[in-house]
Amino acid sequence: MPQSTTGSIDSPSPQWRGGAAAIAMLTFAVDGETPVLAAGRRYAQHAMAMSHQAYDARRGLPRLLGILAEFDISATFFVPGLCAERWPHAISAIVEAGHEVAHHSYSHRPSTELTPAEERWEFERGLEALHALDIHPVGYRSPMWAATWNSAETATSIGLGYDTSLMDDDRPYIIETTAGPLVELPPHWSLDDWEQYAYLNEPRIGNIIEPPEKAMQLWLAELDGMREFGGLFQLTMHSFLSGRPGRARALRTLIETILERGDVAFRTGAQLREAVLADPGVERRKLEPVVADPHTYPNW
Ligand SMILES: [Zn+2]
Repeated sequence: MPQSTTGSIDSPSPQWRGGAAAIAMLTFAVDGETPVLAAGRRYAQHAMAMSHQAYDARRGLPRLLGILAEFDISATFFVPGLCAERWPHAISAIVEAGHEVAHHSYSHRPSTELTPAEERWEFERGLEALHALDIHPVGYRSPMWAATWNSAETATSIGLGYDTSLMDDDRPYIIETTAGPLVELPPHWSLDDWEQYAYLNEPRIGNIIEPPEKAMQLWLAELDGMREFGGLFQLTMHSFLSGRPGRARALRTLIETILERGDVAFRTGAQLREAVLADPGVERRKLEPVVADPHTYPNW
């Protein structure tokens, strides 16, 4: 049976929201070449595919940093360690602009396809790469959101303080691990630009190019829902996707619209983590791995 969800999560104005109707968290993954290389090392030979991903650090990221600067809003950028090694100046520029850089594995290989030892290596190696740029991340997002039941435990054990990979809520909660509390800031596919904009013929990392107007319509519907129900509007974007000119303009309009609503507060992941930990009413949960009976589910 799933755990009870009673508690103070239905409080009309929980402390973590600080009086706002909803919290908006703008997040960007700066994945660079890693999602394509995770599909196969051979794609390093594909100049088009590699250059498609290099657009991230070369053009998309600087453009998005410029748009954020127009509003003086701080955002959270998730960076795989390999990308930090390949594009150190681009990643350092994020910090210099006053934003948060968080952990996003080393190679962007999905944790569900790794052994526990390999997943730990990804955590440690990714952290090492960010430390080399004097970046000390607080947050973590598993690549492709492919978290395992070990991920929260491992993240906490290496000193990380929040995760944004699990989808069983639309408000923050605290995961109790043996290494201490880990704040979960739940994301969702509906608030991810990959599902709107990602197309590449080979490897087939995405199959869709939607107009920005459609993405904005979807995201604003979620925003207004979060305002009514009091949730976390966490937008997940990728600088090689949302950094394209027409999409970047649409993001500017979206930020203007959120500001016009007047009752939404922007927070980075690290800021929201602090607010969640300071709120005694936030629900605490233990992860309970699902066990599937092989007789009921014979297909692996
Ligand atoms: Zn990613």
